[in-house]
Amino acid sequence: MIPEPSDSPSQKLLKLEKRLLRQVGQAIGDFGMIEEGDTVLVCVSGGKDSLGLLALLQKLQARAPVRFRLIAMNLDQRQPGFPEDVLPRHFAQVGVEYRIVREDTYSIVKEKIPEGKTTCSLCSRLRRGIIYRTARELGANKVALGHHRDDILETFFLNLFFGGRLKAMPPKLRNDEGDLVVIRPLAYCAEEDLARYARGMNFPIIPCSLCGSQENAQRQQVKAMLRAWEREDPRRIASIFTALGHAVPSHLLDRALFDFASLAAGAGGAEAALDEAVGAAPVHFFAPSPLRT
Ligand code: SF4
Repeated sequence: MIPEPSDSPSQKLLKLEKRLLRQVGQAIGDFGMIEEGDTVLVCVSGGKDSLGLLALLQKLQARAPVRFRLIAMNLDQRQPGFPEDVLPRHFAQVGVEYRIVREDTYSIVKEKIPEGKTTCSLCSRLRRGIIYRTARELGANKVALGHHRDDILETFFLNLFFGGRLKAMPPKLRNDEGDLVVIRPLAYCAEEDLARYARGMNFPIIPCSLCGSQENAQRQQVKAMLRAWEREDPRRIASIFTALGHAVPSHLLDRALFDFASLAAGAGGAEAALDEAVGAAPVHFFAPSPLRT
């Protein structure tokens, strides 16, 4: 038998892009992330994920039935060695409206956090304030961030193992002031796919170690655990991710989510319907894509 010719690198990249676009489109649709007339501020750090997010949103914008405006934003935190010309050049090349904001959060973080401690929480808080302010200045009503499926899973396990909460990372969130909505259109995309896409597209990636901060040990542990699980059986990761979209409050122990106190014998119970749903679940659980249809 003549072997099937394998895909060329450009065909592989096209297929990968198609999958990512489908997943981003699905997440946008599932959570109502983008609507007609929105102005979306896309936060681009220069990492593989946010550069991919911008590229995918631009492609979707060109073919979407709704009209929305994209503005790319980079916050130059004045980290030593940050190549400040790279992102403006990239934004101009890909033809997106953009704003570069220069604020020295690096010095603030270095001054306030003792040497050797993780600086990310203060840094993120400062960054969030600047991003929201920029969105308001530019008239944006949505802020798009480049967190992906694996970030969501890691956060879920960090909360589960170390925080005592059943909580991941929201795909869509209203800010405390109520004037902006934060969206994560890569919520269904795997990090490995985004890394391959970034390599294939030759994105001008800026290293994320410029601030000198180390990822905290707990996150590293969780990352390693998920990677090992993925190697053992990728269906497990798909199943966990699917489960995040199928919570059953009556089978958890959160009294704020389910009214156990007023549960009494009476007509019709939820148990049979639930057993049926669980019985039917494997088809969905072990589907290769975690997407809901
Ligand atoms: S890795 Fe560096 S730039 Fe990123 S959040 Fe942490 S301190 Fe800030």
